[in-house]
Amino acid sequence: MKFSDLGLSSELSRAVADLGYESPTPIQEKSIPVVLMGRDILGSAQTGTGKTASFTLPMIDILASGRAKARLPRTLILAPTRELAAQVADSFEKFSVNNKLSMALLIGGVSFADQNAALSKGVDVLIATPGRLLDHFERGKVLLNDVKILVIDEADRMLDMGFIPDVERIVSLLPRMRQTLFFSATLSDDIHKIGSKFVMNPKIIEVAPPASTAETVAQHLIWTETKSKRQVLRDLLAVEQVKNAVIFCNRKRDISTLVTSLKRHGFSAVALHGDMTQSARLDALQKFKDGDVPLLIASDVAARGLDIVGLSHVFNFDVPMSAEDYVHRIGRTGRAGKSGRAFTIAAGKDDIKYIDAIEKLIGKPIPPIELDQVSVVTATSTPASAEDDPQPDKKQKRKTKPAESAKKPAVPARKNRNHDDELPSPPDCQGSTMRETGHIPAFLTR
Ligand code: AMP
Repeated sequence: MKFSDLGLSSELSRAVADLGYESPTPIQEKSIPVVLMGRDILGSAQTGTGKTASFTLPMIDILASGRAKARLPRTLILAPTRELAAQVADSFEKFSVNNKLSMALLIGGVSFADQNAALSKGVDVLIATPGRLLDHFERGKVLLNDVKILVIDEADRMLDMGFIPDVERIVSLLPRMRQTLFFSATLSDDIHKIGSKFVMNPKIIEVAPPASTAETVAQHLIWTETKSKRQVLRDLLAVEQVKNAVIFCNRKRDISTLVTSLKRHGFSAVALHGDMTQSARLDALQKFKDGDVPLLIASDVAARGLDIVGLSHVFNFDVPMSAEDYVHRIGRTGRAGKSGRAFTIAAGKDDIKYIDAIEKLIGKPIPPIELDQVSVVTATSTPASAEDDPQPDKKQKRKTKPAESAKKPAVPARKNRNHDDELPSPPDCQGSTMRETGHIPAFLTR
């Protein structure tokens, strides 16, 4: 199947070809003709599947006829976070290079004045987070009664973040006769019920089985003690060939502590979470995406759905409390057919419960591994896919859970292994490709 077979204009087919897209992804194949027909969609697709293009491409063709009027956007895309909204805006700009369309991005943390100026000129596409859009509406800066197409992206995240009432309010301000494209990573009963309120006679499109993890991500689980988690992470960073990694924490305050700790140990890291100002968030993300800083320490809110090209690793510094978050976190790597590695550091009784929930959701155990095994695997060529990994049975996994792992060292013997409260000074800085001061992987220097 080619893009031109989907009914898109030659301008768009050219734009995607210039971006190096050779053929449409399954969600694009299924959605684009349906959107061009004017039908509503209730879609289940995770980020990384090419979902953004599946709605932006046909939208651009539909918008090609007609003109923008001041303060009356013709289409509206709602996204749960600033980063996701900004990412959709980036895609829209890339895809519409051969079309003269205008766009405004309404997200928090950015000056109202600039957004207002864009709105007053008239926009074809408004991309917004719900809160900021309502702020503009209440100030009388935007009218929504000319919106012909509404996209609700990452609806399950909207639900998690408590945004559904805002979305309902926004939808009540739109014309009843419109086209609605509703996307969620999973179509759970709750999401289905919510989505059904916004769409009319939708085409149900599902491209990935709910909560599946990509085969391109090799997953590993390491049990340790809570106080050793930072040390285990540092050892993993030293033995793994990490090009760039997102390290997830469950709590925002732990993100800052971890960034400080990693820096003290000579690693280069930036934080990304919802309490940072928008400019600090964009700045951190840009540094990471540009490869200036190889470690991004992030929360779920900030990092979900982010498209980071060629991410080599994901580390769960904390086991996510929601099993679905696990799928989203590790889905940042192993994208677009590339292989990736995901390590989850578990400690304590609660994590047993969370890991069980994750394994139930993904339908397979996360292979447990000891740190000395990691270095051996890495030194003798890392397996590229989950299939290459040892898949120990449940019994073997239970053997490595906290009570026993606590008895043995969680990491291979190495000089200068200290907990953060007894940090070596100066920090041991040789080793990982990640260190600001060294470029030789640790296992080669031993
Ligand atoms: P998304 O799921 O929309 O976040 O897209 C994930 C990544 O896939 C983005 O980097 C897109 O640029 C890329 N992508 C989307 N569609 C295609 C395609 N048909 N061929 C190759 N890459 C694509």
